[in-house]
Amino acid sequence: MTDNCIFCKIAAGEIPSATLYEDQDFRVILDVAPASKGHMLILPKQHYANICEMPEELTGKAFILAKKMAGKLETTLKCDGVNIVQNNHEAAGQTVFHFHIHLIPRYADDQVGLGWKMGKLTDADRDEIVKKITEE
Ligand code: 5GP
Ligand code: ZN
Repeated sequence: MTDNCIFCKIAAGEIPSATLYEDQDFRVILDVAPASKGHMLILPKQHYANICEMPEELTGKAFILAKKMAGKLETTLKCDGVNIVQNNHEAAGQTVFHFHIHLIPRYADDQVGLGWKMGKLTDADRDEIVKKITEE
């Protein structure tokens, strides 16, 4: 538990939330400002700022839970698709610095604005990145 972390307080149940699932490691809640109907957040009960700080085993459990909750979204809310989004650091759009996974149900013709402008992989970037990542 980290002082002044809103997600620590929600995950611990100190601040009430619309809880969809809970176990010893996680609480799954509805996002207070949903991108679409059913937008939920998976919060670990222990505080880690981002995915790089998370232990591997807990990270694995978080994504297994994301798979389960995605299935529930499809069967219960009958959505047409699900985006799984996980932001790390301010540059990537993270605004709450306690690891969380977004599950955003998608509906045909919804107005959810996820995406990016497609670039072009240059030969120089390809060679540099492959070398750096594979040789580390
Ligand atoms: P991020 O931008 O860090 O990936 O996402 C933070 C998310 O947390 C946002 O979608 C925002 O709406 C949600 N959020 C922020 N504060 C609260 C809160 O107090 N309760 C709930 N349920 N969601 C919150
Ligand atoms: Zn926290």
